[in-house]
Amino acid sequence: MLIDSHCHLDRVDLKRYDEDFDRMMQASAEAGVTRMLCVSIDLEHYPAMRELVEPYAQVDVSVGVHPSEEGRREPSLEALVELAADPRNVAIGETGLDCYRSSGEDIGWQQARFRTHIAAARACGKPLIIHTRNAREDTIRILKEEGAAEVGGVLHCFTEDWETAKQGLDLGFYVSFSGIVTFKNAAELREVARQVPNDRLLIETDSPYLAPVPHRGKPNEPRLVGHVAECIGEVRGMAPEAVAEVTAENYLRLFRRA
Ligand SMILES: [Zn+2]
Repeated sequence: MLIDSHCHLDRVDLKRYDEDFDRMMQASAEAGVTRMLCVSIDLEHYPAMRELVEPYAQVDVSVGVHPSEEGRREPSLEALVELAADPRNVAIGETGLDCYRSSGEDIGWQQARFRTHIAAARACGKPLIIHTRNAREDTIRILKEEGAAEVGGVLHCFTEDWETAKQGLDLGFYVSFSGIVTFKNAAELREVARQVPNDRLLIETDSPYLAPVPHRGKPNEPRLVGHVAECIGEVRGMAPEAVAEVTAENYLRLFRRA
């Protein structure tokens, strides 16, 4: 039993499946992936994404507008809460701050969008999916200012230092590792993955991006999440099956699917 806590199924490359989405989903099931969270990045693509996963009961969804999606329709608190009332919805996001491309620019709009998502999560009592890149201090500060600890959530595709992980953990957040943790140059990140407590650990693919070693550079999909479990097992001295088990338990607890 493996759970992919973060993927974008509407963006997965289906070439190897002759463009047949169902075959990709079957390949995931055959790889032992019993559940996945399909994460929204904007409202424009949300309806098609939601329709795509409708036949698959093992797919949970979130609603949110990614911080890098500049110029997208701004989500209102009301719109987010309304879409989150969907029984298949388990979270608000992904949201957060991304200063990778916009360093030095005014990102007031990102911060306002981020605050709206936190308010929506508090309004509907659902956890947050947080993306943070080159903005760790501001991300933690805004989480604190907006009372995000009340709902908690996950710091997804974690690539920051232990200090940031610790601050997230202190706010009640979980920490999710993607294929990046398997990359050769990610020794520091593996050290963070070693330290996160068992009951706060999650794994993800972030498909179609960031395929884990030995598939690095190729299209990613949920069936590859086992490689992340293996790598984390290695650094923590756990069997990959044990990593699969605790991360699945954590997922079901955080997203209230237990
Ligand atoms: Zn994502």
